[in-house]
Amino acid sequence: MKKLGVFICHCGVNIAGTVDVKSVAEKIGKIGDVAHSTDYIYMCSDPGQQTIRDAIREKGLEGVVVACCSPSMHENTFRKAVRSQGMNPYLCEIANIREQCSWVHQKEKDTATKKAVEIIQSTLEKVRQNESLEAIAVAINRRVLVIGGGSLASPRLSTWPRGAMRLSSLKGTLLWVVTWRSFSRPFQISIQPWPVFSPTCQRLKNTPRSACAVMQNWKTSRVRGQF
Ligand code: SF4
Repeated sequence: MKKLGVFICHCGVNIAGTVDVKSVAEKIGKIGDVAHSTDYIYMCSDPGQQTIRDAIREKGLEGVVVACCSPSMHENTFRKAVRSQGMNPYLCEIANIREQCSWVHQKEKDTATKKAVEIIQSTLEKVRQNESLEAIAVAINRRVLVIGGGSLASPRLSTWPRGAMRLSSLKGTLLWVVTWRSFSRPFQISIQPWPVFSPTCQRLKNTPRSACAVMQNWKTSRVRGQF
């Protein structure tokens, strides 16, 4: 059984104005494998991060949950903090109790507090299952396969859909466009023929025709893995 630590952030009043962080910390602290449960006003501040580092060192924590904002804000911050104490960074997870809890339940404090506990409990379960990981480098090339570009390939289209807008930044990239022909025949795909497809390539910031591959009558036999 891993020894886990939970750190609950107030974010000033962003979280603590709605969620009763003290009672959450107390409740989470009663879970068997939680060796340390505490709250702090700004967990991403230097003193907040130091709280995490100290607890890892003093309690010998083997996994960490930081209950705070979206992982897009500070997941890296906290993963760096745990790594500085020799913990694998992927044993640190974020429980989002701000955007997914306090901000959307501002008039329901009891509900928000219960929900914060549940979010932390489910994140704890993830940390229990987590394994140490190492980042790897993977060789890439400048080829892009676009799936679902049916309207993209239309020369009559006056306004571009969102996917096409993204493609417009791929200047100089080898481009394969695959369109789904029929939803009644899943996995059957085909490429738009050149008369339709070529103008589209030119609209992609003059990507040369030679940089676009045309493959007709494609049919997938099986799909393995996922992105
Ligand atoms: S970690 Fe996130 S929730 Fe906590 S103080 Fe910083 S920004 Fe606010």
